[in-house]
Amino acid sequence: MKKVIITIDGWSSCGKSTLAKQLAKQLGYVYIDSGAMYRAITLYFLRQTVDLNSKKEVTKALENITLEFEYNEKSQQSEILLNGENVEYMIRDMIVAEKVSDVAAVKEVREFAVDQQKKMGKKKGIIMDGRDIGTTVFPRAELKFFMTADIAIRVERRFKEMYEKNPNVSIEEVKNNLEMRDYIDSNREVSPLRQAKDAIVLDNTNLTMEQQLKYALGIAQNAIEMANPA
Ligand code: C5P
Repeated sequence: MKKVIITIDGWSSCGKSTLAKQLAKQLGYVYIDSGAMYRAITLYFLRQTVDLNSKKEVTKALENITLEFEYNEKSQQSEILLNGENVEYMIRDMIVAEKVSDVAAVKEVREFAVDQQKKMGKKKGIIMDGRDIGTTVFPRAELKFFMTADIAIRVERRFKEMYEKNPNVSIEEVKNNLEMRDYIDSNREVSPLRQAKDAIVLDNTNLTMEQQLKYALGIAQNAIEMANPA
């Protein structure tokens, strides 16, 4: 059975990873969280106080970074390793969220991440979510989604998620962070967040998770069938 590539791009906190994980499970595909890669790079840069304006420092830091994904039986999801250290939970921290879009806007950082993402797609059978997956990483993907939802809904969802881990987080802080990331991500020079021309728009403001999955799964199964003519 021929496998395809499914890309999911969109604004921050509109449920891309939730949908990607569910689709991957249903289809027996591999899910790759490209945002986790930028977050892990950001964590390394913060720890090493890398100056983003110094090409030399950035290049040297990237030479010392190895990123891998490892499946965790307990959490039933793949988690990111930064130089062998599991940083899956640490990278969700607000300190990383505050800095990640600046780091992800650096040309060398994008080249480093995109190169690895392209390799992960060689065997197909993957679902990758992010900001530039359907436009830059896999412009020829068989199926592309572009997700969106009202900002108020997105803030509420992210706030609930972050509050569980850290009750000190405020709703204003979450809102400012989402707006700031969306602004930087869609205005940067190198592969900004854009809806690919051939992407299917999925606005989940008024959809339950079940409705969203049913809709997206139908489309995905159809795309897989089209790739496998009888
Ligand atoms: O998806 P997530 O919110 O974890 O991504 C964190 C950040 O990583 C985004 O705000 C964006 O700055 C960056 N990113 C990116 N390109 C991707 C995925 C994420 O620039 N493909």
